[in-house]
Amino acid sequence: MIRRTKIVATLGPACADPKILDRMMEAGLDVVRLNFSHGSAQDHIDRAELVRALARTRGRAVGVLVDLQGPKIRIGKFKDGRITLAKGDIFILDAACPLGDQTRVGLDYKELPNDVKRGVTLLLDDGRIELWVEEVRGTEIVCKVVQGGVLSNNKGINRKGGGLSAAALTEKDVEDIKTAAALNADYLAVSFPRSGADMRQARELLRAAGGKSQLVAKIERTEAIEHLEEILEASDAIMVARGDLGVEVGDAAVPALQKRMIRMALERNKVVITATQMMESMISSPIPTRAEVSDVANAVLDGTDAVMLSAETAAGQFPVEAVQAMDRVCLEAEKEAESVFSGAARLDHSFLRPDEAIAMSAVFTSVHLNIKAIAALTESGNTCLWMSRLSTGVPVYALTPEVQTRRKVTLFRGVYPINLQTASKERDALLAEAEEELRRRGAVRDGDLILLTIGEPIGQPGGTNTMKIVRVGDSKKT
Ligand code: PGA
Ligand code: MN
Repeated sequence: MIRRTKIVATLGPACADPKILDRMMEAGLDVVRLNFSHGSAQDHIDRAELVRALARTRGRAVGVLVDLQGPKIRIGKFKDGRITLAKGDIFILDAACPLGDQTRVGLDYKELPNDVKRGVTLLLDDGRIELWVEEVRGTEIVCKVVQGGVLSNNKGINRKGGGLSAAALTEKDVEDIKTAAALNADYLAVSFPRSGADMRQARELLRAAGGKSQLVAKIERTEAIEHLEEILEASDAIMVARGDLGVEVGDAAVPALQKRMIRMALERNKVVITATQMMESMISSPIPTRAEVSDVANAVLDGTDAVMLSAETAAGQFPVEAVQAMDRVCLEAEKEAESVFSGAARLDHSFLRPDEAIAMSAVFTSVHLNIKAIAALTESGNTCLWMSRLSTGVPVYALTPEVQTRRKVTLFRGVYPINLQTASKERDALLAEAEEELRRRGAVRDGDLILLTIGEPIGQPGGTNTMKIVRVGDSKKT
């Protein structure tokens, strides 16, 4: 069995050693996330190069996802690095405070006092500390501590229920988009978008910098849930960013939202990543908890394209084991998940383009005719995207000469990239080569049915217009 759900892992100090990274690839890593909240542009460029060099040695494609920091609002630093707040204390968030102490701390986002008023709840450090706003006085937000604890330098702040005015793209993000273009990122994730307009702005900046990345909207604030439809429309993919989202909407709302987001993404031909705390205990334990195993398995059953590791691989003690654990849990869950295909899926849709119609016909046919594998000869990868929006259990091989496309499909559930050069070849020669390639890899055997799609004339993106079914090995007999 080959795993259908894709694994995204965040890079960081824990996997800086190329040997560790290589073992993560061996364990089945499909996409790396470069977290632009940490490190310099040059660090990220070097990391992307290392990843691609290792992937080349392994003869496979690994995608690179750049994750922008976005307007994550943080407190400043403390004189002593940390303080301890007790319930009932008065504590002031002060935009004008240079260095914090037991009574107050600074803010990196100077507008925060304008965005809150008496009665608002502010959550610090992923909700571990809860503050109730008593009053706003100029640059000062005077709060009463509802839930105390240790508070250390630069912890994040969320407003319960959303409503912060910070724009999705900061000055740093605008610069980082240029770096993403320079390192040729396959995916660019925008943090804290509020609307479709935020995503369109990011796309314009990316295109202006010469970048071709697919755009991922991280759904992590209340406004994004309200504008999910238009954000999906303006994006290629979404991330169920459960960390910040859980703080803004309340942790209990997240599981149902995850299911809704995954369903909506798939229906609209978008890709979806489920993220944050999936194997959290593996930061310091070689095995996940039963609850974490269930969480990953349930994301697979929900139909997610990919599951993501954050601190587990960036800063944890067991980065390789974390990838191995995800691999094994996804594989097992998929045995149950692939029975969900309904033969009536999308029969009520009108297709907008001939290539989409071929892709959907191929999927429909493959489950009704016991097709062993689909071989999609593709330029843009779009045919594979459509095919993979329905869960069928039939593997889709994306055969393409385009390296960009091979890396793009690393995130698509059940799609596997293969390098196939098409220059100056005839259709029948190409199809025979595709068949032989799948046989060579053990994906099909003599006697299996294989479905191939291709566009003529050869080599035009969006040109898929042909579907052919062959029995492997038959062409040799004639
Ligand atoms: P982050 O985003 O890890 O960049 O905060 C993901 C999330 O909030 O879940
Ligand atoms: Mn986040």
